[in-house]
Amino acid sequence: MNEQISEPKKNTVNGGIISDFIRNIIQKDLSSAAITSVITRFPPEPNGYLHIGHAKAICLNFGIAKEFSGQCHLRFDDTNPSKEEQKFIDAIQEDVRWLGFNWGKNLFYTSDYFEQLYMWAEYLINENMAYVDDLSAIQIREYRGTLTEPGENSPYRKRPINENLSLFREMRAGKFENGEKVLRAKIDMASSNINLRDPVLYRIIHAKHPRTGNKWCIYPNYDFAHGQSDAIEKITHSICTLEFEDHRPLYEWFIENLPVPSKPHQYEFARLNLTYTVLSKRSLKQLVTEKFVTGWDDPRMPTISGYRRRGYPSTAIRDFTDRIGISKSNATVEVQSLEACVREDLNKNAIRRMAVLKPLKVIIENYPENLIEELDAKNNPNDENAGTRKIEFSREFFIEQDDFMEDPPKKFFRLTPGREVRLRYAYLITCTAVVKNKEDNITEVYCTYDPETKGGSAPDGRKVKGTIHWVAAHSAINAEIRQYDHLFTEEIPGKNGNLLDDINPNSLTIISGCKLESDLQNSPKGETIQFERLGYFCKDKDSTSNHLIFNRTIGLRDTWEKRKGDENVQKS
Ligand code: ATP
Ligand code: MG
Repeated sequence: MNEQISEPKKNTVNGGIISDFIRNIIQKDLSSAAITSVITRFPPEPNGYLHIGHAKAICLNFGIAKEFSGQCHLRFDDTNPSKEEQKFIDAIQEDVRWLGFNWGKNLFYTSDYFEQLYMWAEYLINENMAYVDDLSAIQIREYRGTLTEPGENSPYRKRPINENLSLFREMRAGKFENGEKVLRAKIDMASSNINLRDPVLYRIIHAKHPRTGNKWCIYPNYDFAHGQSDAIEKITHSICTLEFEDHRPLYEWFIENLPVPSKPHQYEFARLNLTYTVLSKRSLKQLVTEKFVTGWDDPRMPTISGYRRRGYPSTAIRDFTDRIGISKSNATVEVQSLEACVREDLNKNAIRRMAVLKPLKVIIENYPENLIEELDAKNNPNDENAGTRKIEFSREFFIEQDDFMEDPPKKFFRLTPGREVRLRYAYLITCTAVVKNKEDNITEVYCTYDPETKGGSAPDGRKVKGTIHWVAAHSAINAEIRQYDHLFTEEIPGKNGNLLDDINPNSLTIISGCKLESDLQNSPKGETIQFERLGYFCKDKDSTSNHLIFNRTIGLRDTWEKRKGDENVQKS
């Protein structure tokens, strides 16, 4: 059972030093001189884009290499040409780099080892530890037995070595169709571990491989390729997720029985699961191909490229993986804790600008018609080094529709007839009149300002409770804002059978006609900015100079639980 944790279990992070059970093992191996330096690897299969779960594995493997002055290899586990593509290889490299890691010269492909792996397969045949089987995939499954019953030997298990060897060579030469034959290890069909019941080592796949082209039509399985690739690269600690724990005896069987150049060890940790999020490549691929999202980098996707496009800083993602830590038991982390890391990071580092999403025009009656004043505004109140900027102020500007109420409840401290309010960085203003259209909607608000209050404070020290933001009408730029919500409405999407039933129909809201402070025109893509009082935003890659588009990265506060609560109240 998955245990639900709201406060993710922290690693011991001591003065920047992280400690967990894997790092403890490595520390011990180094201290006892069992190894002289640590080599880890991150082994993605290039059949999709990387997601936040992969980020956990990347930060672990590359992080360990950095901390212990070792190295981490990037190895593409490219053993299934029917699903793998060059575009995924390129995207994975971009994502690992963006996360802040560097493999240097240590870029490898399992396909580089195909010849060596083939030789080792022949070695096993010659040692009477592997055989060619003619059973079909379905028959192999039937013969395998169950968790409670032993399997049965294949009728082809007793094939003589020479016959196995020539059949295997014919498999390589392309004599057979897909699925006609496989090579299997000869271990033990009665083993209590199903992975040891004569696992398949090679299958026939007539498909063009992104790197080896048509050179091969037989491909090694993950289990036969992975440990041996680790051994070739002299990986010291081969770290993978818990579902491979039962494969470890097989991993060790190959390492023991083959003349490999080193003896790596496998260690397992719990994979990351996040609430309201799907982290299975197969499901993510389905969302893309069936167009529930616009692509792998849709800002609603939990992919590294989706988060990047949405405006999440890579530092926040690394901080998140450090905080959730590494453990041996499966748990689901609340997506809010990732969002909290993003907010914390941006609150510290993002520059501030003003923007109005739902504009209402305000006119200051007593402000000179053609005057434009320059006011000082802080770029980031949390960072003195961020400095200040000049913003222009004039007689007409926009405020949020929500910041005005003609007939407000008691605790409304924003703009309302007769009460003074502060315009951020500008003046104290008081509403004097409201203009409405035929439908009785407010179209404009008239105010007066106190010229003695430039910068937003009164010389007589009188108190003003509310402060609202604004954008000058004469220089405002128009933009579209894309506001995102969780892609799924259920905490554990697909729990009730069909994942697609749990898709949130309101995960994207487009707001057009937004008014932005003028220098956001030149905001670089990839920089996330706080729009004061609204949240964090960044320019989207679809944006052009004529049609600006900003993604809302995240709001200033977490409102999901509250909204969920409101909905429940409405439903009941
Ligand atoms: P998926 O199950 O989403 O298809 P995968 O494990 O098949 O993912 P790989 O490309 O083989 O994808 O993964 C590369 C590495 O990333 C593996 O070592 C795997 O253990 C690790 N990894 C994948 N998903 C997660 C996760 N959710 N949490 C932590 N590590 C993960
Ligand atoms: Mg995998």
